[in-house]
Amino acid sequence: MQVATGKSILNGIAIGPLRIYKKAETETAVTSSLTPEEEYARFEEARVKAQEQLGNLYEKALDEVGEDNAAIFEIHQMMLDDDDYLEAVKGIIDTQNATAEYAVTTTGNNFAETFAAMEDAYMQARATDVKDISHRVVNILAGREEGGLLDEKPAILVADDLTPSETVQLDKTKLLGFITRYGSSNSHTAILARTMNIPALIGVDFDDTWDGKLAVLDGYNQCVYIDPAQELLSTMEEKRKSDLKQEALLQGLKRKPNITLDGKEIKGYANIGNAGDVGLVLQNDAQGIGLFRSEFIYLDSDDFPSEEKQFMIYKRVVETMAGRKVIIRTLDIGADKQAPYFELDKEENPALGYRAIRICLTRKEIFKQQLRAILRASAFGTVSIMFPMIISVREVRDAKEIFEECKAELKKQGVAMGEIEVGIMIETPAAVMIADELAEEVEFFSLGTNDLTQYTLAIDRQNPKLDNFYDSHHPAVLRMIRHTIEAGHRHNCWVGICGELGADQTLTETFLRMGVDELSVSPSAVLPLRKLIRSLDLSKEPETK
Ligand code: PEP
Ligand code: MG
Repeated sequence: MQVATGKSILNGIAIGPLRIYKKAETETAVTSSLTPEEEYARFEEARVKAQEQLGNLYEKALDEVGEDNAAIFEIHQMMLDDDDYLEAVKGIIDTQNATAEYAVTTTGNNFAETFAAMEDAYMQARATDVKDISHRVVNILAGREEGGLLDEKPAILVADDLTPSETVQLDKTKLLGFITRYGSSNSHTAILARTMNIPALIGVDFDDTWDGKLAVLDGYNQCVYIDPAQELLSTMEEKRKSDLKQEALLQGLKRKPNITLDGKEIKGYANIGNAGDVGLVLQNDAQGIGLFRSEFIYLDSDDFPSEEKQFMIYKRVVETMAGRKVIIRTLDIGADKQAPYFELDKEENPALGYRAIRICLTRKEIFKQQLRAILRASAFGTVSIMFPMIISVREVRDAKEIFEECKAELKKQGVAMGEIEVGIMIETPAAVMIADELAEEVEFFSLGTNDLTQYTLAIDRQNPKLDNFYDSHHPAVLRMIRHTIEAGHRHNCWVGICGELGADQTLTETFLRMGVDELSVSPSAVLPLRKLIRSLDLSKEPETK
């Protein structure tokens, strides 16, 4: 038995085989060391394999979703046989002595641009398809497996690091837990692990011999046991069963209010990253969704998700929540959340860079597409929106103006819409300092304490070396929170917390005494928090620590 330690992201136990995920090189070499003929032969081999995969996908889709929907894979097969496409790839390999990966990527991008510029809507739609097929061939060339990071059997995933977009694409039914060498506890990958209720460890030094071995990931003791001794395995299985029992006990709190012994009631909402998380929200009886990180829809796509696609996702979430509030945070892309098709420049300081509302206000067409989708979904339930990374009144006014513009356009088209409450995230010290003015502009504030801590303490939340300095209990952070709540209330603006600090039970009483109206936490934290709130008595003097 071997033991390795790390830092726990979520307490819990996972037992199963380890599966090491090796990231493919993201940088594609341009020049090949092979002859053009050899390079083209590599391409040809990958292309045949891609055709095979597409054939299998067609059969599977035919069974599961019918002929019309399966047809897309036939179209992809035809595109991979297209003479123009093949000649373009060959041309790049021959004239530039390029690698097959580079030639395919470049051809895919060039063709996509050409299709996108065409008048015909059918041809425009082929832009995404040509990128898709090129991506498939490049994956094969790079030896990446089809179908994500996990194969058929459930496993504990082991990786150097996982980006938010990789994490969001994981098949949660097969993911028992994950272990990474790098990563920090406030990164989005860590947040996703909490949302999915998946035990996870970061900062673990692993090696290739672990692949396939049985392991116990012990989130409580921040370690992983490889090839565990039988006795330990039995103890851990017992512990896991007792965890499940505890969870079942908490289910007894369903439909009960989040009310203290002396009658102070607050809202207990949940944070989600995608529509699939709504099941967890219902299972844990959250009273609403306090933060829908909509950018994960973008991270999960190879190209800008269309208005229709987004509308269907928001509608599904809103309908499933059946009248309970759904707060959709508008696109917060940038910094660690990168989608290549945005083609954002590399920046010296991405956390302080071109991101979130800054992108939305300058690339209005992207923002409007999302706002229209949200407005249309609002006809199906109770929707609120909030804008991220706000630092000024002007930004809020500009965002609201674009929102009103979308509303007017849809109204003119006779599209049904509901009433949408508008709020902002308070996650910069600037927003805290002008909270009185901002509160005049919106109906609610949601404190994003992850970023607020990062910007207040000048500590990169992504940097694992700084984890010990990232003190979210710092008096400066707590004073910022108090100031925001008081300013909001002075102007009839309700105030919630949707950052990770909202789930910190050592601060729940403090937040309630500050007057917070809502706490939005990962779904699995909703009921434990309810249990605690129901045991508090705010009429008593707080214990001095
Ligand atoms: C935050 O910053 O606290 C927040 C909720 O947003 P995110 O973690 O997605 O940046
Ligand atoms: Mg944030």
